[in-house]
Amino acid sequence: MKEDDCEELKLLKETEICKNCTNIVFGKGNEHADILFVGEAPGKNEDEQGLPFVGAAGKNLDKLLEKVGLSLEDIYVTNILKCRPPLNRDPLPEEVKMHTPYLVKQIREIKPKVICSLGNHATKFFLALGDLNKISSQPGITSVHGKVKEITFQDMKIKLIPLFHPAAIIYNQHLKVDWEKDMEIVKREIKGSAEQKTLF
Ligand code: URA
Repeated sequence: MKEDDCEELKLLKETEICKNCTNIVFGKGNEHADILFVGEAPGKNEDEQGLPFVGAAGKNLDKLLEKVGLSLEDIYVTNILKCRPPLNRDPLPEEVKMHTPYLVKQIREIKPKVICSLGNHATKFFLALGDLNKISSQPGITSVHGKVKEITFQDMKIKLIPLFHPAAIIYNQHLKVDWEKDMEIVKREIKGSAEQKTLF
């Protein structure tokens, strides 16, 4: 993916978190993958290395993927925010507004069959169809994980499957079973859309 100085990049560079970060964290994995994982924002390790999910949550994500027979070859991983908020605070609405046009550009380029939102922030963003006023009224991850949601976001038809955030699973190991079941649903949906492609 070309990280050229497009309008979307210029916009996110205007935010304070971008002016203060060490690295803009765009993403990692296979840019032609069927599955796009979207987390919340880079943490300290991600900011230092310029890559998403390289700290504790990332190590857990690697383990979780391995357990379901997948690797970074099968997915692309990015975040709602491309820069680390200070002290890992929650993203501010203005930051979401300024950073997500770049996420939309990534989705258009990758054209994934399924988007897996990781945790509450990313899930609520997609369920609210990017409308910042509707984010807080969306259901939480506990009630929507593993459910296939067909959404139209901007002009894109997206199959969204929310998953528990890998960081949450570190502290709640029982969520691992749910995560594995949810990933079976993701795999089934991908297979389903591959069959559909050959039919039409
Ligand atoms: N948590 C996230 O949501 N994203 C990262 O890149 C790392 C931790």
